[in-house]
Amino acid sequence: MIAGLTPYVPGEQPRVANLVKLNTNENPYPASPRVLQAVTAAAQQGLQLYPDPESTQLRQAIAQHHGIDADQVFVGNGSDEVLAHAFFAFFQQDQPLLMPDVTYSFYQVYCQLYGIGVQLIPLDDALQVCVADYSGVAAGGVVLANPNAPTGRLLALADIEQLLQSHPQQVVLVDEAYIDFGGASAISLIDRYPNLLVVQTLSKSRSLAGLRVGFAAGSRQLIEALERVKNSFNSYPLDKLAQAGAVAAYEDTAYFEQTRQAVMQSRETLALALELQGFKVLPSATNFVFVRHPQHDALMLAQRLRDSGILVRHFKLPRIDQYLRISIGTPEQCDALAQALWRLTSAAA
Ligand code: PMP
Repeated sequence: MIAGLTPYVPGEQPRVANLVKLNTNENPYPASPRVLQAVTAAAQQGLQLYPDPESTQLRQAIAQHHGIDADQVFVGNGSDEVLAHAFFAFFQQDQPLLMPDVTYSFYQVYCQLYGIGVQLIPLDDALQVCVADYSGVAAGGVVLANPNAPTGRLLALADIEQLLQSHPQQVVLVDEAYIDFGGASAISLIDRYPNLLVVQTLSKSRSLAGLRVGFAAGSRQLIEALERVKNSFNSYPLDKLAQAGAVAAYEDTAYFEQTRQAVMQSRETLALALELQGFKVLPSATNFVFVRHPQHDALMLAQRLRDSGILVRHFKLPRIDQYLRISIGTPEQCDALAQALWRLTSAAA
């Protein structure tokens, strides 16, 4: 069985310096200075003792930010771990798990790992999730990323509610890894829908990909189930530094606002620049853009960009192999990318 697993392949983390790295949707800005202070202080307090197994302070900080209770919050070692526990806890059912045909590719890896059946629901021609296509389909659960990845497209909360209502007996997992870059969170719905589990990460909008912190928000019943799985696997998934740093990130609201606004501003500037070059740019509510050029092969563009020191992500997958996913960098990095693409597309034209 293990030999048959096809693991998720993360974007390249290059060992060479000076590359413009726009391939794994990291935040181009460093973590808040308050995070660094908190991590240093936590290390000085001593690493010989185990961390709080329940991450109490962190769960309180997250709960406070979202106006919910700490027992409606579950934390994990990156949202990937939270997702894995949720798939294990909720989706091992007789019926298949429904998900978009184009979405975060880790979902299908968890399904393979845990023996969960999958039914793919195609995105429409504009690569948007069409929630009506999910209703009436017998399912063991529903998972989707909102905004979706790698398309960047956002669904309105009314659409999420429609999904929740069409599958009231199943867990509907909404992965909001990118929600802070332009969407409204479905966390506001958890009190009304006990079948809703919302997953978020501190890796993107809080610049903490290196610290590995993610969380889920949902009804107490769902959170308790996740705790059971976690405590049957690892009592201490979040170390002391991660817990302290993540709490500090929630305390520095000004820094969070400033950096996420900067990313959103750069996204709009980059989208416009690429459209002027003839690229088709999907509307994005994330920290990346998903683009294609009608006259230029995406894989070739990705390879040529790499030759000029710029990494972007290309997926050799059905329906999206003519697209590039470009993470939003600093204004300077976005300029370098736009200039390189201009050179490549105008030289070969
Ligand atoms: N969900 C989506 C849609 C993602 O793109 C990512 C980042 N690769 C994750 C979850 C996982 O993020 P992390 O484990 O860093 O929290």
